[in-house]
Amino acid sequence: MIQDAYIPFTIEKQKHIALIAHDSKKKELVEWVDQNKEILKNHFLCGTGTTARLICEQTGLPVKGYNSGPLGGDQQIGSRIVEGNIDFVIFFWDPLESQPHDPDVKALLRIAVVYDIPIANNKATADFLLTSRYMNEEYERTVLNYNKIIQNRIKDMKLD
Ligand code: PGA
Repeated sequence: MIQDAYIPFTIEKQKHIALIAHDSKKKELVEWVDQNKEILKNHFLCGTGTTARLICEQTGLPVKGYNSGPLGGDQQIGSRIVEGNIDFVIFFWDPLESQPHDPDVKALLRIAVVYDIPIANNKATADFLLTSRYMNEEYERTVLNYNKIIQNRIKDMKLD
């Protein structure tokens, strides 16, 4: 049954937004945050270490900092998504440079899709997200019901 297959989670009006930018994109993200300060100040902001610090210093907005990306910051943000504590991501990653933590970046992008999290990877998408009517409303995201999947897998597994 479709209702069983997914579990709804509410993204509240006041969102928990993670901000991340690779080095060549940091200036662009800081400027974008500054331009959208009036909206973003109404939400809870966090980010990877360097990005969070830069945004905080340049815009005056409070941004909770996790570890720097190459030191596990992307993984920390991914785990907060899994726990339900981050429900919105702006991640300006660099499409022209490989990163030492490429696997972590890919893992974060994947987990955001698994948990049906709005995620913007460039300025245009970030602009569309931020002007969405859902910014001022609750939104029900839907996550695959893994309990159900696990039950079915165990049922199908013949261990003897
Ligand atoms: P940083 O990490 O904000 O600490 O630079 C971002 C990243 O590289 O993923």
